[in-house]
Parts: sequence; C-alpha cells; structure tokens
Amino acid sequence: MCTDSVQPPGAEETGTGACHTSPVEVCFLGTGTPSPDPLRCGSGVAVISRDASWVLVDCGRGVTHRALEAGLDLGSLIAVLLTHHHSDHVSDLATLAITRFVAGAPSALRVVAPAGPCRRFAETCLDGFEDQAFYSQRTAGVSERPAVGAQGFVPSIAPARVLGEGGWVVLSAQVDHGPIESATGYRIELDGLAVAVSGDTVVCDGIRNLASGVDLLVHEALLSERSSAEALAWNASACSVGSLANDAQVGQLALTHLLPTPRGEGEERLFVEEARSGGFTGRIDAVSDLDRMSVGVRGNHNLRRR
Ligand SMILES: [Zn+2]
Repeated sequence: MCTDSVQPPGAEETGTGACHTSPVEVCFLGTGTPSPDPLRCGSGVAVISRDASWVLVDCGRGVTHRALEAGLDLGSLIAVLLTHHHSDHVSDLATLAITRFVAGAPSALRVVAPAGPCRRFAETCLDGFEDQAFYSQRTAGVSERPAVGAQGFVPSIAPARVLGEGGWVVLSAQVDHGPIESATGYRIELDGLAVAVSGDTVVCDGIRNLASGVDLLVHEALLSERSSAEALAWNASACSVGSLANDAQVGQLALTHLLPTPRGEGEERLFVEEARSGGFTGRIDAVSDLDRMSVGVRGNHNLRRR
C-alpha cells in the first residue's frame, strides 16, 4: 500500500495499529486483476457496518479466502454486488456460496447483478455441482445444498436504488467498460456516510453521478505511460481518476485494480503520483489486499495494513 496525502494543519495520520471509531469500514479483499499475482486476489471490496454486517462489491479470484483472513462472518454478509461479468470480478462466487453454506448460513447467497451475462453467471454458477458434491457438508438445519438468489436490474446512467434494508442503501449506475454490457458501479450509503466503487470503467457520467460527494471513492487505475491505448479505452487512467475525485469533491481516494501490476511500494507510488496530477488534493492510497480503512473523517482517516 502506498499513501500520498495532503493533510490539513493538525491532521493526524496513522499507519498500522489503532483505528478511529467510524460506523463504516472498508476492507480490500482483492486488489488485483486477471494477471497472476500471489499478493493480489481478484476484485473484492467489503463495506462493513458497526454491527459486523457487510456487503461485498465483486467476488474475484481468492476473495472468499481473503474474507476469512479479514475475520468477516460469512453469515453476516447481506449481499454481493457484482459490477460486470469479467472473470476477475466474479470467479470466486461459487466458492463464496459454498463456503458460506458449509459455515451454516441458512439462506441463499443474495447477489445483485446487472441484467444479462453477469446475472446469468450468478444464477448458474452452482449448477455444475451435483447434489452429491455436498454430501455430508451441510450443517443441521440448513438446506441440502448451497444456493444463490440473483437479483437483476437494468442499469442507467442516473443512479437507481438496487438494495435498501437495515439502514443500508445501495445505488447503481451504468459505467463504460467498452463492449462489456452491462458494466456498473455502486454507491453504498450507511450511517450518513457514502462509499462509491467504480468497477472497471473509464471516467464517465455514471461514475461521476455515483461518486458525487462521497466520503471514499474506490476506483480502478491504470498507469498511462505503461498502458496500451486499447486498455485505456476501456479503463481509467490514474490521472483521470484524480480529476474525477477533484470534480466530484470526494473525501478520499483509494486506487485499486492497478495495471500494470505494481511490484512494491515504489511502483505503487507511480499510480498515486499520476492520480495527484489529475488535481485531487485529498488523501490518495494505492491499496493492497487486506488494507482496511475507517470511512468518514476527511483528511484524517485511519488505515490498517495487513
Ligand atoms: Zn477487472
């Protein structure tokens, strides 16, 4: 994890260790891409309430294991919000549903996904398993086999509510990931705080709408000088993300899904520096798996590293 902050006078910054009290935390369960990387799982961002309930944005390679490493209770997972059907965002979904079932969760895993191939993947990800595959794995009192309950929606550029219960409000909007339809981002609101997660997208009106005024923007980022024109036509450069964060007046910015894959803090810093060149003056972090943030105090938040 690499940090670059422009702190107001008197602001306090902490590294590892104690966290400020906040009713909302974010844990990065996967900060990688399709590129093989033992240190970065596929995409996964957990937003966690004070009561330990949580929602998960995307479920790429290894995210279930990261959730266990983070100490999250799989039974307290309210819903998985999928952004699009690229494998690095969805490939661990069956593992999550099965592990949650084995852990004793009685209900189907709730998945919110854009209509089309993403929802279809969620609906069918367990179909390849015969019932016999779960012989003796279930806990007493739960169903015979794991299940996924997929809730589809047709995204629009204007944010629309896709989940609302127990104080959680989740809005989604269509973003622009080239030919991938539909690709979406999410805005998660809880206890007066807001977190936006981009999914994969160039900077577009959909993510601008979701990011407006949020306390934390989590956005994918590519290094302009080391990325192809084709990749930059589908994904956001770090510079453009910094510009978005400035225009949307977000509280702080977390860069994830970094391409090309950085090797060490020196290369992570390149992403932060490029985002800074976009004009955002608040705190910017290039995050790593299992980094954890308290959300909600501008210019002075806590971050715990793995
Ligand atoms: Zn991706």
